[in-house]
Amino acid sequence: MTIKTDQRNNFNNFIDGEWVEGSSGNVITNYNPANIEEVVGSVPESTEEDLDRAVESAKQALSSWKGLTGAARGQYLYKVADILESRTEDIAETMTREMGKTYPEAKGETARGVAILRYYAGEGMREVGDVIPSTDKDALMFTTRSPLGVVGVITPWNFPVAIPLWKSAPALIYGNTVVIKPASEAAVTCAKVVDCFKEAGVPKGIINMVTGPGSVIGERIATHKDVKGISFTGSNKVGKHIGQQALSKGAKYQLEMGGKNPVIVAEDADLDLAVEATISGGMKSTGQKCTATSRVIVHSSVYETFKEKLLHKVQEIKVGNGMEDDSWMGPSVSENQLHTVLHYINEGKEEGGKLLTGGHRLTDGDYAQGYFVEPTVFENVSSDMTIAQEEIFGPVLALMKVDNLEEAIEIANDVEYGLSASIFTTNIQKMLAFMEHMDAGLVRVNAESAGVELQAPFGGMKSSSSHSREQGQAAKEFFTNIKTVFVK
Ligand code: NAD
Repeated sequence: MTIKTDQRNNFNNFIDGEWVEGSSGNVITNYNPANIEEVVGSVPESTEEDLDRAVESAKQALSSWKGLTGAARGQYLYKVADILESRTEDIAETMTREMGKTYPEAKGETARGVAILRYYAGEGMREVGDVIPSTDKDALMFTTRSPLGVVGVITPWNFPVAIPLWKSAPALIYGNTVVIKPASEAAVTCAKVVDCFKEAGVPKGIINMVTGPGSVIGERIATHKDVKGISFTGSNKVGKHIGQQALSKGAKYQLEMGGKNPVIVAEDADLDLAVEATISGGMKSTGQKCTATSRVIVHSSVYETFKEKLLHKVQEIKVGNGMEDDSWMGPSVSENQLHTVLHYINEGKEEGGKLLTGGHRLTDGDYAQGYFVEPTVFENVSSDMTIAQEEIFGPVLALMKVDNLEEAIEIANDVEYGLSASIFTTNIQKMLAFMEHMDAGLVRVNAESAGVELQAPFGGMKSSSSHSREQGQAAKEFFTNIKTVFVK
Protein backbone atom coordinates (compact mmCIF):
# COMPACT_ATOMS: atom_id res chain seq x y z
CA MET A 1 0.00 0.00 0.00
CA THR A 2 1.41 3.38 -0.95
CA ILE A 3 1.43 5.92 1.88
CA LYS A 4 0.41 9.27 0.46
CA THR A 5 2.11 12.42 1.51
CA ASP A 6 0.75 15.63 2.83
CA GLN A 7 -0.37 17.75 -0.15
CA ARG A 8 1.78 20.60 1.15
CA ASN A 9 4.80 18.67 -0.05
CA ASN A 10 3.72 19.03 -3.68
CA PHE A 11 5.61 22.05 -4.98
CA ASN A 12 5.68 24.04 -8.20
CA ASN A 13 8.50 26.11 -9.63
CA PHE A 14 9.26 29.40 -7.94
CA ILE A 15 9.44 32.09 -10.61
CA ASP A 16 9.08 35.85 -10.28
CA GLY A 17 7.97 35.62 -6.66
CA GLU A 18 5.22 33.04 -7.26
CA TRP A 19 4.82 29.29 -7.17
CA VAL A 20 3.88 28.40 -10.76
CA GLU A 21 3.14 25.09 -12.46
CA GLY A 22 5.69 23.59 -14.81
CA SER A 23 4.74 23.99 -18.46
CA SER A 24 4.91 20.27 -19.24
CA GLY A 25 2.28 19.38 -16.64
CA ASN A 26 4.42 16.39 -15.63
CA VAL A 27 5.77 15.96 -12.13
CA ILE A 28 8.66 14.11 -10.48
CA THR A 29 7.43 12.15 -7.45
CA ASN A 30 9.89 11.42 -4.65
CA TYR A 31 9.64 8.36 -2.45
CA ASN A 32 11.26 7.73 0.93
CA PRO A 33 14.45 5.71 0.35
CA ALA A 34 13.90 4.09 3.77
CA ASN A 35 10.43 2.97 2.68
CA ILE A 36 9.73 3.28 -1.02
CA GLU A 37 6.00 2.84 -0.46
CA GLU A 38 5.90 6.27 1.15
CA VAL A 39 5.44 9.24 -1.18
CA VAL A 40 7.33 12.27 0.13
CA GLY A 41 6.22 14.89 -2.35
CA SER A 42 6.58 16.12 -5.90
CA VAL A 43 8.04 18.88 -8.04
CA PRO A 44 7.53 19.79 -11.71
CA GLU A 45 9.42 18.07 -14.49
CA SER A 46 10.09 21.44 -16.05
CA THR A 47 11.05 22.42 -19.57
CA GLU A 48 13.55 24.87 -21.00
CA GLU A 49 10.68 27.32 -21.37
CA ASP A 50 10.23 27.37 -17.56
CA LEU A 51 13.93 27.94 -17.07
CA ASP A 52 13.95 30.79 -19.58
CA ARG A 53 11.11 32.48 -17.69
CA ALA A 54 13.06 32.19 -14.45
CA VAL A 55 16.19 33.67 -16.01
CA GLU A 56 14.16 36.52 -17.49
CA SER A 57 12.63 37.24 -14.08
CA ALA A 58 16.08 37.20 -12.43
CA LYS A 59 17.37 39.54 -15.14
CA GLN A 60 14.51 42.02 -14.63
CA ALA A 61 15.07 42.00 -10.86
CA LEU A 62 18.78 42.66 -11.12
CA SER A 63 19.01 46.43 -11.33
CA SER A 64 16.78 47.22 -8.35
CA TRP A 65 18.33 44.44 -6.22
CA LYS A 66 21.88 45.55 -6.82
CA GLY A 67 20.73 49.13 -6.30
CA LEU A 68 19.89 48.36 -2.66
CA THR A 69 22.54 48.83 0.00
CA GLY A 70 24.28 45.71 1.25
CA ALA A 71 22.69 46.36 4.62
CA ALA A 72 19.20 46.32 3.08
CA ARG A 73 19.91 43.07 1.27
CA GLY A 74 21.25 41.70 4.53
CA GLN A 75 18.00 42.53 6.33
CA TYR A 76 16.16 40.22 3.93
CA LEU A 77 18.63 37.40 4.60
CA TYR A 78 18.24 37.83 8.38
CA LYS A 79 14.49 37.48 7.91
CA VAL A 80 14.88 34.35 5.79
CA ALA A 81 17.18 32.91 8.49
CA ASP A 82 14.55 33.49 11.20
CA ILE A 83 11.84 31.81 9.12
CA LEU A 84 14.08 28.86 8.26
CA GLU A 85 14.93 28.49 11.94
CA SER A 86 11.26 28.46 12.90
CA ARG A 87 10.64 25.71 10.33
CA THR A 88 13.61 23.55 11.31
CA GLU A 89 11.63 20.49 12.41
CA ASP A 90 9.49 20.33 9.30
CA ILE A 91 12.37 20.91 6.89
CA ALA A 92 14.63 18.42 8.66
CA GLU A 93 11.89 15.79 8.65
CA THR A 94 11.28 16.34 4.94
CA MET A 95 15.02 15.99 4.30
CA THR A 96 15.22 12.72 6.24
CA ARG A 97 12.19 11.31 4.47
CA GLU A 98 13.31 12.49 1.05
CA MET A 99 17.01 11.61 0.96
CA GLY A 100 17.52 9.36 3.98
CA LYS A 101 20.03 11.06 6.30
CA THR A 102 19.13 10.72 9.97
CA TYR A 103 16.89 13.31 11.58
CA PRO A 104 19.60 14.67 13.94
CA GLU A 105 21.92 15.13 10.96
CA ALA A 106 19.11 16.81 8.99
CA LYS A 107 18.42 19.16 11.90
CA GLY A 108 22.13 19.95 12.12
CA GLU A 109 22.22 20.76 8.42
CA THR A 110 19.18 23.04 8.72
CA ALA A 111 20.82 24.87 11.62
CA ARG A 112 23.89 25.23 9.39
CA GLY A 113 21.63 26.81 6.74
CA VAL A 114 20.40 29.36 9.28
CA ALA A 115 23.98 30.20 10.28
CA ILE A 116 25.02 30.57 6.62
CA LEU A 117 22.22 33.06 6.00
CA ARG A 118 23.20 35.10 9.07
CA TYR A 119 26.88 35.05 8.18
CA TYR A 120 26.23 36.43 4.69
CA ALA A 121 23.56 38.86 5.93
CA GLY A 122 26.37 40.48 7.94
CA GLU A 123 28.59 40.60 4.87
CA GLY A 124 26.32 43.29 3.46
CA MET A 125 28.01 45.75 5.82
CA ARG A 126 31.64 44.71 5.39
CA GLU A 127 34.34 46.14 3.15
CA VAL A 128 34.38 45.28 -0.53
CA GLY A 129 37.63 46.85 -1.68
CA ASP A 130 41.09 48.20 -0.99
CA VAL A 131 42.79 51.52 -1.42
CA ILE A 132 46.02 51.04 -3.37
CA PRO A 133 48.64 53.83 -3.41
CA SER A 134 48.94 55.25 -6.90
CA THR A 135 52.30 56.31 -8.34
CA ASP A 136 50.52 59.54 -9.31
CA LYS A 137 50.38 61.78 -6.24
CA ASP A 138 47.21 63.48 -7.49
CA ALA A 139 45.25 60.29 -7.93
CA LEU A 140 43.12 58.08 -5.76
CA MET A 141 43.17 54.42 -6.71
CA PHE A 142 40.94 51.78 -5.18
CA THR A 143 39.11 48.57 -5.91
CA THR A 144 35.41 47.97 -5.67
CA ARG A 145 33.27 45.01 -6.61
CA SER A 146 30.24 44.47 -8.78
CA PRO A 147 27.92 41.48 -9.01
CA LEU A 148 28.15 39.05 -11.92
CA GLY A 149 24.45 39.37 -12.79
CA VAL A 150 22.11 36.38 -13.02
CA VAL A 151 23.74 33.39 -11.35
CA GLY A 152 22.76 29.75 -11.92
CA VAL A 153 23.05 27.47 -8.90
CA ILE A 154 23.11 23.73 -9.67
CA THR A 155 23.16 21.50 -6.59
CA PRO A 156 23.38 17.82 -5.59
CA TRP A 157 20.98 15.93 -3.32
CA ASN A 158 23.28 15.18 -0.38
CA PHE A 159 23.03 18.58 1.36
CA PRO A 160 19.71 19.93 0.06
CA VAL A 161 19.57 22.85 2.54
CA ALA A 162 23.21 23.80 3.11
CA ILE A 163 24.53 23.73 -0.46
CA PRO A 164 21.74 25.77 -2.13
CA LEU A 165 22.17 28.29 0.71
CA TRP A 166 25.97 28.47 0.77
CA LYS A 167 25.76 29.41 -2.91
CA SER A 168 22.59 31.57 -2.98
CA ALA A 169 23.19 33.61 0.19
CA PRO A 170 26.56 35.06 -0.92
CA ALA A 171 25.29 35.46 -4.49
CA LEU A 172 22.40 37.56 -3.20
CA ILE A 173 24.28 39.63 -0.63
CA TYR A 174 26.75 40.81 -3.29
CA GLY A 175 23.86 41.90 -5.53
CA ASN A 176 23.39 39.01 -7.93
CA THR A 177 20.03 37.38 -8.63
CA VAL A 178 19.66 33.63 -8.58
CA VAL A 179 18.09 30.70 -10.42
CA ILE A 180 18.43 27.41 -8.52
CA LYS A 181 18.18 23.97 -10.07
CA PRO A 182 18.24 21.44 -7.24
CA ALA A 183 18.90 17.73 -7.71
CA SER A 184 15.55 16.02 -8.28
CA GLU A 185 16.19 13.46 -5.49
CA ALA A 186 15.92 16.17 -2.81
CA ALA A 187 14.03 18.95 -4.59
CA VAL A 188 11.08 19.04 -2.19
CA THR A 189 13.44 19.90 0.69
CA CYS A 190 15.03 22.64 -1.40
CA ALA A 191 11.58 23.99 -2.31
CA LYS A 192 10.86 24.37 1.41
CA VAL A 193 14.01 26.46 1.78
CA VAL A 194 12.97 28.64 -1.16
CA ASP A 195 9.56 29.07 0.46
CA CYS A 196 11.30 30.79 3.39
CA PHE A 197 12.44 33.49 0.95
CA LYS A 198 8.85 33.94 -0.24
CA GLU A 199 7.60 34.16 3.34
CA ALA A 200 10.30 36.77 4.09
CA GLY A 201 8.90 38.92 1.29
CA VAL A 202 12.09 39.19 -0.74
CA PRO A 203 11.63 41.20 -3.97
CA LYS A 204 10.21 39.12 -6.79
CA GLY A 205 12.70 37.61 -9.20
CA ILE A 206 15.77 37.77 -6.98
CA ILE A 207 15.58 34.06 -6.27
CA ASN A 208 13.92 31.49 -8.53
CA MET A 209 13.82 27.71 -8.47
CA VAL A 210 13.19 25.46 -11.46
CA THR A 211 13.16 21.68 -11.01
CA GLY A 212 13.65 18.94 -13.58
CA PRO A 213 16.25 16.75 -15.25
CA GLY A 214 19.84 17.97 -15.17
CA SER A 215 20.18 17.19 -18.86
CA VAL A 216 17.39 19.70 -19.64
CA ILE A 217 17.29 22.37 -16.91
CA GLY A 218 20.93 22.20 -15.79
CA GLU A 219 22.08 22.14 -19.38
CA ARG A 220 19.97 25.19 -20.20
CA ILE A 221 21.45 27.10 -17.24
CA ALA A 222 24.93 26.22 -18.46
CA THR A 223 24.23 27.44 -21.99
CA HIS A 224 21.83 30.36 -21.40
CA LYS A 225 23.41 33.62 -22.60
CA ASP A 226 21.93 35.66 -19.73
CA VAL A 227 23.35 33.45 -16.97
CA LYS A 228 26.66 35.13 -16.21
CA GLY A 229 27.87 32.91 -13.38
CA ILE A 230 27.37 29.21 -12.61
CA SER A 231 28.05 27.66 -9.25
CA PHE A 232 27.88 23.86 -9.44
CA THR A 233 28.32 21.09 -6.89
CA GLY A 234 28.04 17.49 -8.01
CA SER A 235 29.87 14.74 -9.84
CA ASN A 236 33.06 15.21 -11.86
CA LYS A 237 31.49 14.06 -15.09
CA VAL A 238 28.69 16.62 -15.01
CA GLY A 239 30.93 19.34 -13.56
CA LYS A 240 33.50 19.13 -16.33
CA HIS A 241 30.76 19.32 -18.93
CA ILE A 242 29.23 22.40 -17.29
CA GLY A 243 32.65 24.04 -17.06
CA GLN A 244 33.16 23.60 -20.79
CA GLN A 245 29.73 25.07 -21.56
CA ALA A 246 30.36 28.04 -19.27
CA LEU A 247 33.78 28.67 -20.76
CA SER A 248 32.46 28.67 -24.29
CA LYS A 249 29.83 31.32 -23.52
CA GLY A 250 32.25 33.38 -21.39
CA ALA A 251 30.49 32.90 -18.03
CA LYS A 252 32.30 32.67 -14.72
CA TYR A 253 32.04 29.19 -13.22
CA GLN A 254 32.82 27.33 -10.06
CA LEU A 255 32.76 23.54 -9.83
CA GLU A 256 32.90 21.59 -6.58
CA MET A 257 33.03 17.89 -7.28
CA GLY A 258 33.96 14.51 -5.87
CA GLY A 259 36.44 13.21 -3.34
CA LYS A 260 38.29 10.02 -2.42
CA ASN A 261 39.33 11.13 1.00
CA PRO A 262 42.04 9.40 3.04
CA VAL A 263 42.64 9.13 6.75
CA ILE A 264 46.18 8.36 7.84
CA VAL A 265 46.63 6.63 11.20
CA ALA A 266 50.22 7.01 12.41
CA GLU A 267 51.89 4.67 14.89
CA ASP A 268 51.59 7.30 17.65
CA ALA A 269 47.90 8.09 17.06
CA ASP A 270 45.21 8.04 19.69
CA LEU A 271 43.59 4.94 18.23
CA ASP A 272 40.21 5.33 19.93
CA LEU A 273 39.92 8.85 18.57
CA ALA A 274 41.02 7.67 15.11
CA VAL A 275 38.44 4.87 15.13
CA GLU A 276 35.61 7.22 16.17
CA ALA A 277 36.55 9.75 13.52
CA THR A 278 37.00 7.15 10.79
CA ILE A 279 33.55 5.75 11.41
CA SER A 280 31.94 9.14 11.71
CA GLY A 281 33.70 10.42 8.57
CA GLY A 282 33.08 7.27 6.58
CA MET A 283 29.62 6.14 7.57
CA LYS A 284 27.58 9.18 8.65
CA SER A 285 25.09 10.19 5.96
CA THR A 286 25.66 6.64 4.66
CA GLY A 287 29.01 7.74 3.26
CA GLN A 288 27.24 10.16 0.93
CA LYS A 289 29.40 13.22 1.60
CA CYS A 290 31.97 14.60 -0.80
CA THR A 291 34.31 14.76 2.21
CA ALA A 292 33.51 11.22 3.43
CA THR A 293 36.41 9.06 4.54
CA SER A 294 36.97 6.31 2.03
CA ARG A 295 40.58 5.10 2.42
CA VAL A 296 42.12 4.34 5.81
CA ILE A 297 45.90 4.18 5.64
CA VAL A 298 47.28 2.65 8.82
CA HIS A 299 50.82 2.16 10.12
CA SER A 300 51.69 -1.55 10.26
CA SER A 301 52.67 -1.44 13.95
CA VAL A 302 49.14 -0.44 15.04
CA TYR A 303 47.24 -1.98 12.13
CA GLU A 304 45.83 -5.05 13.91
CA THR A 305 44.77 -3.13 17.03
CA PHE A 306 43.17 -0.39 14.96
CA LYS A 307 41.39 -2.92 12.77
CA GLU A 308 39.99 -4.82 15.74
CA LYS A 309 38.69 -1.64 17.40
CA LEU A 310 37.24 -0.39 14.11
CA LEU A 311 35.41 -3.63 13.31
CA HIS A 312 33.99 -3.80 16.81
CA LYS A 313 32.49 -0.31 16.45
CA VAL A 314 31.34 -0.74 12.83
CA GLN A 315 29.43 -3.86 13.79
CA GLU A 316 27.58 -1.85 16.45
CA ILE A 317 26.21 0.65 13.91
CA LYS A 318 22.42 0.66 13.88
CA VAL A 319 21.12 0.99 10.34
CA GLY A 320 17.52 2.07 9.87
CA ASN A 321 14.95 4.66 8.92
CA GLY A 322 16.50 8.03 9.78
CA MET A 323 13.32 9.13 11.58
CA GLU A 324 13.72 6.42 14.19
CA ASP A 325 15.53 7.48 17.36
CA ASP A 326 18.00 4.61 17.44
CA SER A 327 19.03 4.78 13.75
CA TRP A 328 22.60 5.93 13.32
CA MET A 329 22.86 5.35 9.57
CA GLY A 330 20.07 5.64 7.01
CA PRO A 331 19.63 4.21 3.50
CA SER A 332 21.34 5.08 0.24
CA VAL A 333 19.47 7.91 -1.45
CA SER A 334 18.10 5.89 -4.39
CA GLU A 335 18.01 2.52 -6.05
CA ASN A 336 20.66 3.75 -8.48
CA GLN A 337 22.99 4.81 -5.69
CA LEU A 338 22.43 1.52 -3.85
CA HIS A 339 23.39 -0.41 -6.99
CA THR A 340 26.47 1.75 -7.46
CA VAL A 341 27.59 0.92 -3.91
CA LEU A 342 26.90 -2.81 -4.37
CA HIS A 343 28.75 -2.70 -7.69
CA TYR A 344 31.85 -1.23 -6.00
CA ILE A 345 31.68 -3.81 -3.21
CA ASN A 346 31.66 -6.50 -5.85
CA GLU A 347 34.60 -4.90 -7.67
CA GLY A 348 36.48 -4.81 -4.36
CA LYS A 349 35.98 -8.53 -3.90
CA GLU A 350 36.81 -9.42 -7.49
CA GLU A 351 40.03 -7.40 -7.46
CA GLY A 352 41.32 -9.20 -4.35
CA GLY A 353 40.11 -7.06 -1.45
CA LYS A 354 39.21 -9.02 1.67
CA LEU A 355 35.76 -8.21 3.02
CA LEU A 356 36.02 -7.89 6.82
CA THR A 357 32.46 -6.91 7.56
CA GLY A 358 29.27 -5.90 5.72
CA GLY A 359 29.10 -6.02 1.96
CA HIS A 360 25.40 -6.78 1.47
CA ARG A 361 22.09 -5.10 0.95
CA LEU A 362 19.83 -5.40 4.00
CA THR A 363 16.49 -6.90 3.04
CA ASP A 364 14.89 -8.46 6.12
CA GLY A 365 11.83 -7.06 7.90
CA ASP A 366 11.65 -3.26 7.86
CA TYR A 367 14.67 -3.10 5.57
CA ALA A 368 12.75 -4.80 2.75
CA GLN A 369 11.17 -1.58 1.50
CA GLY A 370 14.34 0.55 1.61
CA TYR A 371 17.73 0.95 -0.02
CA PHE A 372 19.80 -0.17 2.96
CA VAL A 373 23.32 -1.46 2.72
CA GLU A 374 25.53 -2.80 5.51
CA PRO A 375 28.45 -0.71 6.78
CA THR A 376 31.34 -2.33 4.95
CA VAL A 377 35.08 -2.63 5.58
CA PHE A 378 37.69 -4.11 3.24
CA GLU A 379 41.35 -4.90 3.84
CA ASN A 380 44.15 -6.00 1.51
CA VAL A 381 43.34 -3.01 -0.67
CA SER A 382 46.09 -1.73 -2.93
CA SER A 383 46.16 1.73 -4.44
CA ASP A 384 45.55 0.49 -7.99
CA MET A 385 42.24 -1.15 -7.12
CA THR A 386 38.97 0.43 -8.23
CA ILE A 387 37.72 0.84 -4.66
CA ALA A 388 40.92 2.75 -3.83
CA GLN A 389 40.54 5.07 -6.82
CA GLU A 390 36.88 5.83 -7.56
CA GLU A 391 34.37 7.70 -5.46
CA ILE A 392 31.85 5.17 -4.06
CA PHE A 393 29.48 7.48 -2.17
CA GLY A 394 28.48 4.72 0.22
CA PRO A 395 29.44 3.30 3.65
CA VAL A 396 32.53 1.48 2.46
CA LEU A 397 36.00 1.78 4.00
CA ALA A 398 39.20 0.40 2.48
CA LEU A 399 42.02 -0.41 4.91
CA MET A 400 45.57 -0.09 3.60
CA LYS A 401 48.72 -0.96 5.54
CA VAL A 402 51.94 1.10 5.33
CA ASP A 403 55.33 1.16 7.03
CA ASN A 404 56.00 4.89 7.26
CA LEU A 405 54.50 8.33 6.80
CA GLU A 406 56.14 8.95 3.45
CA GLU A 407 54.49 5.88 2.01
CA ALA A 408 51.17 6.86 3.62
CA ILE A 409 51.20 10.33 2.04
CA GLU A 410 52.23 8.90 -1.32
CA ILE A 411 49.23 6.55 -1.29
CA ALA A 412 46.96 9.29 0.05
CA ASN A 413 47.93 11.48 -2.93
CA ASP A 414 47.69 8.66 -5.47
CA VAL A 415 44.18 9.52 -6.71
CA GLU A 416 42.75 12.08 -9.12
CA TYR A 417 40.87 13.77 -6.28
CA GLY A 418 42.10 16.19 -3.62
CA LEU A 419 39.16 17.35 -1.54
CA SER A 420 39.84 16.53 2.11
CA ALA A 421 42.29 14.42 4.12
CA SER A 422 43.00 13.66 7.77
CA ILE A 423 45.87 12.44 9.85
CA PHE A 424 45.81 11.01 13.37
CA THR A 425 49.11 11.53 15.15
CA THR A 426 50.50 13.06 18.32
CA ASN A 427 53.79 13.93 16.66
CA ILE A 428 54.22 17.54 15.53
CA GLN A 429 56.72 16.66 12.78
CA LYS A 430 54.26 14.24 11.26
CA MET A 431 51.49 16.82 11.42
CA LEU A 432 53.67 19.38 9.66
CA ALA A 433 54.83 16.93 7.00
CA PHE A 434 51.23 15.95 6.30
CA MET A 435 50.06 19.57 6.07
CA GLU A 436 52.85 20.35 3.65
CA HIS A 437 52.72 17.33 1.36
CA MET A 438 49.05 16.37 1.30
CA ASP A 439 47.36 17.55 -1.89
CA ALA A 440 43.92 18.39 -0.58
CA GLY A 441 41.89 21.57 -0.19
CA LEU A 442 40.91 20.61 3.35
CA VAL A 443 43.66 19.15 5.52
CA ARG A 444 42.66 18.05 9.01
CA VAL A 445 44.70 16.87 11.98
CA ASN A 446 43.17 14.62 14.64
CA ALA A 447 39.71 15.27 13.20
CA GLU A 448 37.54 13.38 10.73
CA SER A 449 37.83 14.10 6.99
CA ALA A 450 34.24 15.35 6.82
CA GLY A 451 33.61 18.63 8.54
CA VAL A 452 33.33 22.03 6.97
CA GLU A 453 33.00 25.37 8.73
CA LEU A 454 30.89 27.91 6.90
CA GLN A 455 33.24 30.81 7.64
CA ALA A 456 36.28 29.09 6.08
CA PRO A 457 37.08 28.59 2.39
CA PHE A 458 35.99 25.20 1.07
CA GLY A 459 37.02 23.40 -2.12
CA GLY A 460 39.36 20.83 -3.52
CA MET A 461 42.64 20.42 -5.35
CA LYS A 462 43.21 18.36 -8.51
CA SER A 463 39.99 17.02 -10.07
CA SER A 464 37.87 17.81 -7.03
CA SER A 465 37.26 21.38 -8.05
CA SER A 466 37.75 24.08 -10.66
CA HIS A 467 40.29 25.50 -8.17
CA SER A 468 38.02 28.21 -6.92
CA ARG A 469 36.78 28.10 -3.33
CA GLU A 470 33.38 28.68 -1.83
CA GLN A 471 32.02 29.70 1.59
CA GLY A 472 33.57 32.16 4.02
CA GLN A 473 35.22 35.16 2.40
CA ALA A 474 36.11 33.03 -0.64
CA ALA A 475 32.52 33.38 -1.83
CA LYS A 476 33.13 37.08 -2.45
CA GLU A 477 35.84 36.19 -4.96
CA PHE A 478 33.46 34.10 -7.00
CA PHE A 479 30.24 36.10 -6.82
CA THR A 480 31.77 39.49 -7.65
CA ASN A 481 34.01 41.05 -10.26
CA ILE A 482 36.78 43.38 -9.10
CA LYS A 483 36.91 46.84 -10.62
CA THR A 484 40.04 48.93 -10.19
CA VAL A 485 39.08 52.59 -10.04
CA PHE A 486 41.51 55.41 -10.79
CA VAL A 487 40.39 58.96 -9.96
CA LYS A 488 42.49 61.98 -10.81
P1 NAD B 1 25.31 14.96 -10.19
O1 NAD B 1 26.52 15.48 -10.87
O2 NAD B 1 24.65 13.76 -10.76
O3 NAD B 1 24.19 16.08 -10.13
C1 NAD B 1 24.44 17.36 -9.59
C2 NAD B 1 23.47 18.35 -10.20
O4 NAD B 1 23.75 18.50 -11.59
C3 NAD B 1 22.01 17.89 -10.12
O5 NAD B 1 21.20 19.01 -9.86
C4 NAD B 1 21.77 17.35 -11.50
O6 NAD B 1 20.42 17.35 -11.88
C5 NAD B 1 22.58 18.31 -12.35
N1 NAD B 1 22.93 17.82 -13.69
C6 NAD B 1 22.97 16.53 -14.12
N2 NAD B 1 23.31 16.50 -15.44
C7 NAD B 1 23.49 17.77 -15.84
C8 NAD B 1 23.86 18.38 -17.09
N3 NAD B 1 24.12 17.67 -18.17
N4 NAD B 1 23.97 19.73 -17.12
C9 NAD B 1 23.75 20.47 -16.01
N5 NAD B 1 23.37 19.95 -14.82
C10 NAD B 1 23.24 18.62 -14.73
O7 NAD B 1 25.71 14.72 -8.65
P2 NAD B 1 24.81 14.12 -7.48
O8 NAD B 1 24.67 12.64 -7.71
O9 NAD B 1 23.58 14.94 -7.29
O10 NAD B 1 25.75 14.38 -6.21
C11 NAD B 1 26.79 13.55 -5.83
C12 NAD B 1 28.13 14.13 -6.26
O11 NAD B 1 28.26 15.44 -5.73
C13 NAD B 1 29.31 13.36 -5.72
O12 NAD B 1 30.28 13.22 -6.72
C14 NAD B 1 29.83 14.25 -4.60
O13 NAD B 1 31.19 14.08 -4.30
C15 NAD B 1 29.56 15.60 -5.15
N6 NAD B 1 29.52 16.59 -4.07
C16 NAD B 1 30.57 17.47 -3.97
C17 NAD B 1 30.57 18.43 -2.95
C18 NAD B 1 31.69 19.43 -2.86
O14 NAD B 1 31.47 20.47 -2.25
N7 NAD B 1 32.85 19.18 -3.42
C19 NAD B 1 29.52 18.48 -2.02
C20 NAD B 1 28.50 17.55 -2.14
C21 NAD B 1 28.49 16.63 -3.19
